[in-house]
Amino acid sequence: MSRFKEIYDELRSTRRYNLHSHTQFCDGHAPMQQMVEGAIAAGITHYGFSPHSPLPIQSPCNMSACDVPAYAAEVERLRDVYGHRIRLYKSMEVDYLGPQWGPASDAVASYGLDYVIGSVHFVPSQDGRFIDTDGPSERFAGYVATEFHNDLRYVVDTFFSQTIAMIEAGGLDIVGHFDKIGLNTSFVQPGIEDEPWYGRHIAGVVDAIAAAGITAEINTKACARRGRFFPASRWWPLLKKAGVPVVVNSDAHDPALTDASRPEAFNLLDSLR
Ligand SMILES: [Zn+2]
Ligand SMILES: [Zn+2]
Repeated sequence: MSRFKEIYDELRSTRRYNLHSHTQFCDGHAPMQQMVEGAIAAGITHYGFSPHSPLPIQSPCNMSACDVPAYAAEVERLRDVYGHRIRLYKSMEVDYLGPQWGPASDAVASYGLDYVIGSVHFVPSQDGRFIDTDGPSERFAGYVATEFHNDLRYVVDTFFSQTIAMIEAGGLDIVGHFDKIGLNTSFVQPGIEDEPWYGRHIAGVVDAIAAAGITAEINTKACARRGRFFPASRWWPLLKKAGVPVVVNSDAHDPALTDASRPEAFNLLDSLR
């Protein structure tokens, strides 16, 4: 049973939190202990680990199912060591592949997580292969040609239909970086996010989040290097209008980046009226 409501209440009084971070069990660049020490050094008081969950497909970025108990034990150990200085949460960033795997899967419920982030990274190709659309833009551009028959519209449509299906299936508390596909698709086709049909996808996701009564993430990971948030700030007024609660997360893979670009995101949020 998720503890997210209780956690969200704890965060009402502070901005010194980060609920999205990676670990040695997935593709993080440092052990969890160093991540906690980095968070404490940055003045973070509420910190959630969210390794990429186990998956029923091969993925070098995801933790293996046999590591779940070790991950849980490490959270407990770090709570014993650092609990007087920082509140630590046990989460995962869970991919959605379809009815066969996602935040609503029984396996995810069995992990006993404090809350669940649901994120789409893999888009099924027309041939039924799950393709990682995250990662370097050049690699993505290659996949558009080799895996997606050069049909960029198909990639975008499928990314967003998977996102909505994930939200409707349930089991998640936070929707992670819900327009992340915009970064790589804009690399292939600049201006794609200005297309009316693209904007309709965004509006559809915002409606689905509002209808589900869950929280959207504002993800600051790419802000410093790529100059954008996920979702892009142009869509934030839609979230506000729909009354969707948001959390601002750094998606840190490195202890030095726990707070990266979060203050900028809060400043921008404050400026929305
Ligand atoms: Zn992610
Ligand atoms: Zn992440």
